[in-house]
Amino acid sequence: MSRKTIILPKGRRARSGSPWIFSNEIRMDGPAKAVGAGAVVNVRGEDGRGFGTGYFNPKSLIAVRLLTEECDAVIDKDFFAQRLGRALRLRDSLYDKPFYRLVHAEGDHLPGLVIDRFGDTLTVQIGTAGMEKQRDAILAALDQLLSPATVILRGDAPSRTLEGLASYVETVKGKGHRIAVEENGARYIADLTEGQKTGWYYDQRDNRAFIAQFAKGKSVLDAYSYTGGFGILAAMAGARETVCLDSSAPALALAEESGRANGVKIKAVKADVFEELERLIGTNEKFDMVLADPPPFVKSKRDLEPGAKAYRKLARLAAQVTAPDGILMLASCSHNIPPDRFAAECAQGLLRAGRSARLIRQAGAGPDHPVHPLLPESAYLKALVYALD
Ligand code: SAH
Repeated sequence: MSRKTIILPKGRRARSGSPWIFSNEIRMDGPAKAVGAGAVVNVRGEDGRGFGTGYFNPKSLIAVRLLTEECDAVIDKDFFAQRLGRALRLRDSLYDKPFYRLVHAEGDHLPGLVIDRFGDTLTVQIGTAGMEKQRDAILAALDQLLSPATVILRGDAPSRTLEGLASYVETVKGKGHRIAVEENGARYIADLTEGQKTGWYYDQRDNRAFIAQFAKGKSVLDAYSYTGGFGILAAMAGARETVCLDSSAPALALAEESGRANGVKIKAVKADVFEELERLIGTNEKFDMVLADPPPFVKSKRDLEPGAKAYRKLARLAAQVTAPDGILMLASCSHNIPPDRFAAECAQGLLRAGRSARLIRQAGAGPDHPVHPLLPESAYLKALVYALD
């Protein structure tokens, strides 16, 4: 077999079980450097002990992502069909309808691959050179398993540049980019080619349902609403007034359209959340429920301190516009801030706002976003819900 072997020098790496092997953990000698980006490799210790089959990228800090713990594993359509089949069985047992994240990368033992399913439409996000090389095998396996009508490749995640990959969006099968997502009894309009990421954030599904329980008769501020995932469900649950606040005009246009599709009215406000919260504080306007689900404030480990500060400030401002006896949800999708640190910043923010609170929910993403037990980064979403006094 022409497959190359990447060597882990003794002592540098204990067998941690993580699917990631960093560039400083491997022997980066001439033969290693000559392995092409994305090539399938065996990983062995100096003593010949097998660590598994993975794919390599000499350009990336994460030099190898392991696909399996066996060496010499054949990575082909059948391999992907088997992994995708396992991912599908889990979702089939969780959901009545085929609307969910089908593959959550490392969490489903398919590093670098994310697939969202919207009925007979799939959006596929390939994040690494190794998975890009497997593109045809993955698409063939998906055809075999699901025969989707439409497949959209979203190869436009900014992180692809770290892997030396170009950015593209390509509809490889079928056509049409607007679909209706069926979730929690709502029908949301999503744009799968123009929208952010895969077009829809399934990760907040269970948190949306939790929040909706409180909504009857309440005023709701859905800050960082995107296309209204939280706000529309709250309105459908009987909220008296729902404001969707976001800086993206196209996202807000979809939120309004989805509102109409579900027979509810939402008010769309295009503004920067921090500025709008300051304004609301200035005019002493309050909402019975405030939900803040911002973009990642900690984009890399280097940004931890400024990002943590931004979460604290957001918590303070959001608490200030929450009415007495109100509900406040604060979320973070940054895998670079650990849950306890995020919770501590939120607690500080509440304290500085002079608000005492009861923490009533600490949740992550739904079960269609499995976490790799040895890769804490795969548990990126944190949502804290407080009942304020
Ligand atoms: N809560 C949403 C997902 C939010 S994603 C849901 O349930 O689907 C984060 C959103 O924040 C994006 O829609 C993005 O457009 C918006 N955003 C980013 N920076 C912003 C800012 N400074 N002010 C307002 N919105 C912002």
